[in-house]
Amino acid sequence: MKITSAEFIISNSDVSKCPNEPLPEYAFIGRSNVGKSSLINMLTNHKNLAKTSGKPGKTQLINHFKINLNWFLVDLPGYGYARVSKKTKEVFQQFITDYFEKRQQLVCAFVLIDIRLEAQKIDLEFINYLGETEVPFCIIFTKADKIGKVKAQQNVAAYKKKVMANGWEEMPQHFITSSSEGIGRDELLAFIDQINSE
Ligand code: GDP
Repeated sequence: MKITSAEFIISNSDVSKCPNEPLPEYAFIGRSNVGKSSLINMLTNHKNLAKTSGKPGKTQLINHFKINLNWFLVDLPGYGYARVSKKTKEVFQQFITDYFEKRQQLVCAFVLIDIRLEAQKIDLEFINYLGETEVPFCIIFTKADKIGKVKAQQNVAAYKKKVMANGWEEMPQHFITSSSEGIGRDELLAFIDQINSE
C-alpha cells in the first residue's frame, strides 16, 4: 500500500465521539516508550504525525488519523505505569476498555512489544484481555535493529513460549519491525491492505 494521505482527525476520551464514518480502523497500543509514535510515523511516512497529537495531554487520548481517505489509524494511550497486580479492567482507563468493547469499526488491534525485553506481565495480561474480549489482534515487535536477526528470532520464540504458557494455543500473528530501519513496513501495510480489500 502506498500512503497518499495521512490526516489527524480528532482526539477524545469518549468512544461515542470517535468518528462516525464506517471506515475500517486499526488501533496501536503498547507500553510507554515501546516505539509506538515512531512506528506510526514510519508507517505513514510522516516525521511527526503521531506527535501531532502528542502535545501535552493528547497522548492520553484516543487519536484518530485518516489514512488514504479509506481507513483509520488509531493511536491509543501508552500503558505501563499502573500497578500490574490490578486486573486489566482496572489498569486501563474505562474509555480504553470501552473502545475495545464497543468500537464496531475496529478491525484489528496491534499490540506493540519491545523485541529486546522478556515478556512483561502487563502485556501478557493485555493480550489475554483482548482474547477474552474477542478483539482480533496482532503483535508488533519493535526496535528490531537493536539486536541481531538471530537474537530477534530467539526472542520471538521465547515470547511465543510465554504466550502459550499463558493459555494460547498458538502464537498470534506477529510482525518484526524497526522504525529506524523501515523493517516490517511493507508487511504491515500489505496486511492492512489485504483486510481492507476483503
Ligand atoms: P512511544 O512512547 O511508544 O510513542 O515511543 P517513541 O516512538 O517515542 O520511542 C521511544 C524511544 O525509542 C525513542 O527514543 C525512539 O527514538 C526509540 N525508538 C523507537 N523506535 C525505534 C526503533 O525502531 N529503533 C531504535 N533504535 N529506536 C527506536
